[in-house]
Amino acid sequence: MINFNVPPFTGKEFDYMKEAVERQKICGDGIFTKKCHEWLEKNTGTKKCLLTTSCTHALELSALLCEIKEGDEVIMPSYTFVSTADAFVLRGATIVFVDIRPDTMNIDENLIEAAITEKTKAIVPVHYAGVACEMDKIMEIANKYHLYVVEDAAQGIMSTYKGKPLGTFGEFGSFSFHETKNYSMGEGGALLIRDAKYIEPAEIIREKGTDRSKFFRGQVDKYTWVNFGSSYLPSELNAAYLYAQLEMAEEINQDRVAIWNRYFENLKILADKGMIELPVVPEGCVHNGHMFYIKAKDIHERTKLIDYLKENGILSVFHYIPLHSATAGMKFGRFHGTDQYTTKESERLTRLPLYFGLSLDQVDFISNKVKEFYETGIQ
Ligand SMILES: *Cc1c(COP(=O)(O)O)cnc(C)c1O
Repeated sequence: MINFNVPPFTGKEFDYMKEAVERQKICGDGIFTKKCHEWLEKNTGTKKCLLTTSCTHALELSALLCEIKEGDEVIMPSYTFVSTADAFVLRGATIVFVDIRPDTMNIDENLIEAAITEKTKAIVPVHYAGVACEMDKIMEIANKYHLYVVEDAAQGIMSTYKGKPLGTFGEFGSFSFHETKNYSMGEGGALLIRDAKYIEPAEIIREKGTDRSKFFRGQVDKYTWVNFGSSYLPSELNAAYLYAQLEMAEEINQDRVAIWNRYFENLKILADKGMIELPVVPEGCVHNGHMFYIKAKDIHERTKLIDYLKENGILSVFHYIPLHSATAGMKFGRFHGTDQYTTKESERLTRLPLYFGLSLDQVDFISNKVKEFYETGIQ
């Protein structure tokens, strides 16, 4: 059986975790967390990165830093993971969903402006499959209306838009290190902060509302409770695990992109015949091979394809059920404009296995099974 995902593992994880234990420092913000912060800051060029217990929590931290409150509106795509909305719903916001572009499955930047009201506080672009949203246009709208931009770059580490890393455009960006993402610490994430004025407030909220980060740096004699907060910092054991993978980030990235390219070359013939659609990577976007998906004609054909692959020992999976059609989505949000693509395109999409270490032979085998499905008329 070829699994859909296998969590990344490089071999050094245990050594680093052992080192953390031997240093007798396993709570947060020790040497490995610091190494991860330095790596993230160097590789994204952003002012400050803070490891968090998840991408969900990095988004929650962002919502707190944007001072989102009851009645505020936040614009995002409906085709996303629940966390994108949850983080803002927890603060009392109403979610305003707008349609996606069918080519990238990202928020349609041309529909955002019409969804803005006097209550709008933030725009939350989600970089689906590690392929960038149209950030030039989104930032232009945000600047015009003085809105925050919080990037859900959960899938976007190592990807760029016009040469600039994802997660660094908006006031805040967030990465995920969940086991399904390109680099993992089991559960974990990171907050990226663009503007230095938010660094101290972010450090305080992340550390239970205390100025403990300043205390660790020797800037204050004792730490005290200075604001509201929570506990958003991960353990050193998790950071040690992650650091082993960040050290090999380039290699993991190349491996994933090679798999992605192989799928694309193998399946292009089906796309040329109009049988399936392949992912689109717009000019100016460099992606990280986070995900390879294909689009079937409709939900019925997709179900048959998933079943056929399963019969052949391959696990392929569909993705998000649009949030606006979920019980909580109806309660906490509304869809602005018409749902031309969100539902239709989400029902056609299937993700093929893609993980660090999947061999190109396996990719060929999977591609051949997809071709078999289409070329033998089984569908
Ligand atoms: C994975 C993911 C999240 C959540 O990440 P966690 O680290 O599991 O909290 C949020 N948004 C998107 C788009 C994701 O893919």
